[in-house]
Amino acid sequence: MALLIKGGEIVTAETRYHSDILVENEVISTIGSDLTAPPNAEIVDAAGKQIFPGFIDPHVHIHLPFMATFAKDTHATASKAALIGGTTTFIEMCCPSRNDDALEGYHLWKQKAERNSACDYAFHMAVTRYDAKTESQLREIVRDGTASFKIFLAYKNFFGVDDEEMFRTLTLAAELGIITTAHCENAELVSQLQQLLIAERRTGPEWHEPSRPEAVEAEGTVRFATFLEQTHAAGYVVHLSCAPALRAAVEAKMRGVNLSIESVLPHFLLDKTYAERAGVEGMKHVMSPPLRDKRNLAALWSALEAGLIDTVGTDHCPFDVEQKLIGAQAFTQIPNGIPGIEERVNLMWTYGVNRGLIDIHRFVDALSTRPARIFGLAPRKGMIAVGSDADLVVFDPGYRGTISARTQHTNNNYNGFEGFAIEGRPSVVTVRGKVQVRDGAFVGQHDRGHMLRREPQYLKNEAVHAR
Ligand SMILES: [Zn+2]
Repeated sequence: MALLIKGGEIVTAETRYHSDILVENEVISTIGSDLTAPPNAEIVDAAGKQIFPGFIDPHVHIHLPFMATFAKDTHATASKAALIGGTTTFIEMCCPSRNDDALEGYHLWKQKAERNSACDYAFHMAVTRYDAKTESQLREIVRDGTASFKIFLAYKNFFGVDDEEMFRTLTLAAELGIITTAHCENAELVSQLQQLLIAERRTGPEWHEPSRPEAVEAEGTVRFATFLEQTHAAGYVVHLSCAPALRAAVEAKMRGVNLSIESVLPHFLLDKTYAERAGVEGMKHVMSPPLRDKRNLAALWSALEAGLIDTVGTDHCPFDVEQKLIGAQAFTQIPNGIPGIEERVNLMWTYGVNRGLIDIHRFVDALSTRPARIFGLAPRKGMIAVGSDADLVVFDPGYRGTISARTQHTNNNYNGFEGFAIEGRPSVVTVRGKVQVRDGAFVGQHDRGHMLRREPQYLKNEAVHAR
């Protein structure tokens, strides 16, 4: 069925203008003034509202066995929470551990998502071990349309790779023309500092940040960038949290390393005092890299506005209160992670655009267009253009509300942003032309989502290869 969105203001990464949008056969077929609806078309009145391209969360965890437990969401709960919050595509980290078979893991993740997601999705394939068998499996996974890797420099002996494995992964990625995302923290330093603190009986969540200080993240960032430079691979730093790591990443960009930078929602809004709260309140805010000293927030916002930080993801990863309490005796056992897939758009709008910290076009760029471009989803996703998928967010800037675990759709019993006011939210959200959300409620088709297959887009020209 056709869909006509009338009277709204289209806002993209580059421009804004009032126009109608006609959707036919799942894609945007016409953009123009005073369009007439075809017979039987559904009509959405967008007067007084903005229309954004569907937002893309480039970094989420849904199925995740980690730290002796599993993250709480299913693809059904996470995809609906995403849509209610204006995110129409997510890229999930497929994370088998070092002891698992990579291809079996990949099939497991795909099977969990298939027919269970209300929005479209793709995967980053984690490389948690590198040997001949894994290499041939990774080639097969890339051929299947999963055109990005993830490596962890942290989480020694579980997800983490050593320097040789990183080198070989990046060499393969460069050959295949795909981008590698990386969690940049020095695993050995984290492990040693954790042992020291625990031996000194410093066991509470407030010791999580001191066990992985800013310098540990900066070191990982420098090392990743150095390896990218030597392998001529394309890279992407995930969840960058602090000024020293930012300086390292920007310095690498400036000298020509093909490096993109992501930061995530919590690091723009929260600081380490949240993790220093007593007991489980602190544990709710344990993630890695950790929440930082407050002075870092302004640096992240200004780098985001300047486009030096390319994208804003969430690292969505819900563990509930009972799971967080696994670490009641030692912060090293607290499952790392905080949800955010539902809150990212509304909070970045309220505290970024409305507070004047970022421009509205940079907001669309960082939360939709640039993730689409970096990860090979454009022009299908991330833009409002004839021929693009009709993933659209009709946004009501007049809405006022407060974030609370009582009203969230993520499957968790706390919200890391409890009590934060929001000034605006999606009024209508479509996935390929089908209305999936109206005013905070899921009203659509539970299995609407498809896996998005992506082509390698970082192939070097032959001259560079022959060097
Ligand atoms: Zn993550």
